[in-house]
Amino acid sequence: MDELIGHGVRGNGAEIPAIGLGTWTLRDDAASRLVAGALEAGYRHIDTATSYENESAVGAGLRASGVARDEIFLTTKVWPTDLAAGDLQRSVEGSLKRLGVDRVDLALIHWPPKTVPLADSIAALNELRSRGLARNIGVSNFTAALVEQAVTLSEHPLACNQVEYHPFLNQDRVMAACRKHGLAFVSYCPLARGTELLRQAPVAEAAARHGRTPAQVVLRWHVQQDGVVAIPRSSDPGRIRENLDVFDFTLSAGEVAAIDALRSRALRICDFDFSPEWDPS
Ligand code: NDP
Repeated sequence: MDELIGHGVRGNGAEIPAIGLGTWTLRDDAASRLVAGALEAGYRHIDTATSYENESAVGAGLRASGVARDEIFLTTKVWPTDLAAGDLQRSVEGSLKRLGVDRVDLALIHWPPKTVPLADSIAALNELRSRGLARNIGVSNFTAALVEQAVTLSEHPLACNQVEYHPFLNQDRVMAACRKHGLAFVSYCPLARGTELLRQAPVAEAAARHGRTPAQVVLRWHVQQDGVVAIPRSSDPGRIRENLDVFDFTLSAGEVAAIDALRSRALRICDFDFSPEWDPS
């Protein structure tokens, strides 16, 4: 699995580093310091969004790290209020200004549109890609059916679908749709926000067997799956380093099966009144 470090996960031509730093809730100077520290520790993938209100701080962190811009895979997302033609492009242009970069590596529709035709949002996203403001384009929180629609509507290939995924949630259907069309599957809330999941016996027992932490076991579980990327967030520089250090051990088939069985909990953390009708889990 060493190839994951260098090559990342392929999503229709994009090479996405298999572990990225999530930045939701990280703000201001702390966000800059954590992003710079993550890049210095070897991260090459940073995930932000307009709605996180931290793009200026993330941009400052990129510059402070001293890591060359073209070595970093930078993702941002467009909020549902900005998905109409014109609004979407202006949203990403604003992100570029705040981030202090001339393009992002991935621009995502943050949640499927409810008030604008999907075709309009996908066309606007494609225009950004044609203008070189986004090297890759993709979607987030799309169900299997929405992935099918988006793929059909998009002129340029879609690089990924970023969705909630952790051992407490079965996402087989949307994962199958992503694999069918070559999209990378980017897991958000990969640790199910921490404590409860990390205490579960199959996770804790595998951690003890491998001499790793429970978080490392869960992240290993993600990246061992074909086409899966994980973007854990931490406000602790030590944990940020720990979360990247998952490429030199392998979970056995039995360990994976025991962790998979935790999906019976059917826990969905990010569920809002604007969510799509989720795939059955
Ligand atoms: P995560 O599953 O990444 O959990 C974050 C929590 O886990 C924090 O409380 C953190 O605590 C704890 N944690 C992190 N590392 C460790 C560790 N090694 N040991 C123990 N605890 C740990 O949840 P998020 O919701 O942040 O998801 C990750 C990222 O996904 C977001 O930051 C964002 O970038 C993206 N996202 C995207 C969404 C979308 O709609 N597209 C929705 C939600 C998230 P501490 O800070 O104390 O270390």
